[in-house]
Amino acid sequence: MIDGPGLAALIERIVKGVERGGREWTVARRKDSLQRVLAGSRSDAQRLQQRLSQLLMSWDTDRFDGGVELGDATPVPVPVPLASITTEAAPSATMLEWNRVVSRLDGTVRQGLPNSEGAEHPLAIALAALTRRVTAEGATSPLADEMDALCQRAAQVLQHRHHLVDQLGGLCRDLTEGLTDLAEDDSWAQGQCSAMSARLDEGLTARNVRSVSDLLQSTRERQGRLQRERSHARDALKLLINRMLSELGELGSQTGRFHESVGRYADVIEKADSLESLAGVVREMVEESRTVQQLVQQTQARLQSEHSKASDLTHRVVELEVELRRLSDEVSTDPLTQIANRRGLMQSFDIERARMAREGGELAVGLLDIDNFKRLNDELGHNAGDVALKSLATVVSESLRPTDRVARYGGEEFVVLLPQTPVDEGQQILTRLQRSLSGGLFMHESKKVLVTFSAGVTVYREGERIEDALERADQALYEAKRTGKNRTCIG
Ligand code: GH3
Ligand code: MG
Ligand code: MG
Repeated sequence: MIDGPGLAALIERIVKGVERGGREWTVARRKDSLQRVLAGSRSDAQRLQQRLSQLLMSWDTDRFDGGVELGDATPVPVPVPLASITTEAAPSATMLEWNRVVSRLDGTVRQGLPNSEGAEHPLAIALAALTRRVTAEGATSPLADEMDALCQRAAQVLQHRHHLVDQLGGLCRDLTEGLTDLAEDDSWAQGQCSAMSARLDEGLTARNVRSVSDLLQSTRERQGRLQRERSHARDALKLLINRMLSELGELGSQTGRFHESVGRYADVIEKADSLESLAGVVREMVEESRTVQQLVQQTQARLQSEHSKASDLTHRVVELEVELRRLSDEVSTDPLTQIANRRGLMQSFDIERARMAREGGELAVGLLDIDNFKRLNDELGHNAGDVALKSLATVVSESLRPTDRVARYGGEEFVVLLPQTPVDEGQQILTRLQRSLSGGLFMHESKKVLVTFSAGVTVYREGERIEDALERADQALYEAKRTGKNRTCIG
């Protein structure tokens, strides 16, 4: 059954329709037909509603050439737009538009219905079939009843989907909280988990969900890299200790041999009968002790250098851990590109918002995402990817005006804030920037590397959160990706 707002809208349309009048459907005819419909269907609210809707459609076509059932008692000639016109030679413009509205609405509802393993939902199939019939046969009462029933079922399915999304959001939040509890105190994982929670608290938008996924992925990647470096350092230390032990063993055996020699020399000295033979033994002894002394010195030097190598490695591990901890710290600059990070962006945005409140004007917000960046990483390596990020950050910062702001928002995403800029000018600025990159962004193995980006730009609406503006920009960015990349769309 029709709800309050629906009923209000229907009454409004009727009042306007009667007042408006038309060439075929004069005001008097409209009033008369309305009375007939009321008289004929007042006992059945649903039927009344359907007839009124049909009548309104007839008025809209302003053609007095069909037959709608106005009342059970008195059938009179009144127009039916859909049924009759398809049988005529040329459909009217209103008719064509009406069919467009019907099929567009049907397409939209069907898109919202879930697919199971690539197969269309049965409801979607039924809706499509019914829409085809409505378009071909016109909106008759039985078809309207069928549509009503199908739409009710569709509404249930869609409500259930909303419920599911909310539940999934709750599940993510619970999981994140669990992770925060599990992470050791003041470890870098704690920071990542809190950032994830904060993002989820901002609301379940597509970009927030994606940024949580990115965060999880980068956390995993960094964790993996750290673990690999740590185990590498541990293996290197083990190797050093082994080498030290064998050096010490070698030294031990040398000095052991020297001991034996001393015993032997003592024998020779005791039995010596001439000064010459004694002098010979002493020479040999000095020679041998010098060799041992040299050996000890060399071993000492080697041990020292290996010890310093070991402390360098230990130092590097500590550095890595500090770096990881700093990632989730309160810094507002992105360490790789040296431009503002998310936190820095929020600070700039607060300043811009205050300035706008004082001085007025428009703020264009742009979201940039490098095209096919995964491929660049795969083909040229992660380091080249990092160089691309740095170069793009530099080019963007240098080509904007001093009052504009640029920040690295995520992996390969950047945000620009363009004060005093209407949205179409923002689009022009970003499009110019895209053209300027066509000459190559940086050199890799003495070859120019072409890097493009897609962008979405929107204008900040007073009172909204920056996340709302970014969500619009993200939808425009998605449109830019979908329609060929390396372009800027307005959202
Ligand atoms: P699209 O044109 O649709 O945007 O495709 P894409 O390949 O750019 O997008 P996708 O999101 O699939 O891949 C983004 C890649 O960016 C994956 C990730 O490894 C990489 N990335 C994210 N952060 C960094 C970083 O700091 N350095 C490097 N080198 N790569 C990064
Ligand atoms: Mg991306
Ligand atoms: Mg990308």
